[in-house]
Amino acid sequence: MLKCTFCGRGAVYDRRYAGVLLCDRCFMKSVEKRFRKAVAKYNLISPGDKIAAALSGGKDSTVNLHLLADYRRHKDFDLVAVTIDEGIKGYRDESLKIAEENAKLLGVEHKVASFEEAFGATLDKIVKLAKKHKTGLSACTYCGVLRRSLLNKTARELGANKLATGHNLDDEVQAIMLNYIRADLARLYRLGPIYEEREGFVSRVKPLREIPEKEVAVYALLRGLKIHLAVCPHAGGIHMEIRDFINNLEANHPNSKFMILRMFESIKPKIAQSMIEFKPMKCEMCGEPTSSRICKACELLRELGL
Ligand code: SF4
Ligand code: ZN
Repeated sequence: MLKCTFCGRGAVYDRRYAGVLLCDRCFMKSVEKRFRKAVAKYNLISPGDKIAAALSGGKDSTVNLHLLADYRRHKDFDLVAVTIDEGIKGYRDESLKIAEENAKLLGVEHKVASFEEAFGATLDKIVKLAKKHKTGLSACTYCGVLRRSLLNKTARELGANKLATGHNLDDEVQAIMLNYIRADLARLYRLGPIYEEREGFVSRVKPLREIPEKEVAVYALLRGLKIHLAVCPHAGGIHMEIRDFINNLEANHPNSKFMILRMFESIKPKIAQSMIEFKPMKCEMCGEPTSSRICKACELLRELGL
């Protein structure tokens, strides 16, 4: 049996990029340490904060919520969980129940906000309308824009000053690559462990940003967390292609994901020099903060006649 590099117990995980084998205990400790290290290094949580944790019921957001709840032993802050019900039949209904159970288990207040209530249509309906109107936009584009807007609004209405999402290392690296491919410098610049508060926008923080997706999954498993495992029926497109590409790269060249992240971090200050900070305005249609006259959510919905 292979042994843990640190304590000699039976190894359960081969962390190839670091050249170490880990037993269950050392593995879990290292993930928890990495969470705390990111929080401290980027100053993600301050005493007196009210943190809204985005909670879908999937592995990332569930692990994030549990680690945030643990972290309350070190810092005094308030925690609430927010779930967005996009209206994806046969998928979100199940994960909503799991989200609810996790929040209850931790004694964390849980708020659910739905696309249907906020935007007048479920994501399933939006996808149908997008096909009918031949917009050429993917389900994930609508889902991402509308979810971001509704998460921000819900967190703000709950009095939270920070929104913590479960983005892991893979999510961050995929986003970096996607913005490269789309040549979207403004979006690229907004990536990072923390996106500071602007008028109407709650700060967004990502405590799991330096933990690979696979390790978040293994951690959830070892800790015995109840998580939703199904894949969204709308998933696909360029996001999946980039994910596969990066995973292949990592398999053949361990540590590639961290190198992409570090490279981005070292060029980010240079990008800053060419960025003009936008002044948030209020969307003329919905009143939510935006960088232009009409926010992206309203622009997408208007095109569909919603
Ligand atoms: Fe939304 Fe796309 Fe994720 Fe499905 S896969 S939940 S449509 S972003
Ligand atoms: Zn708007």
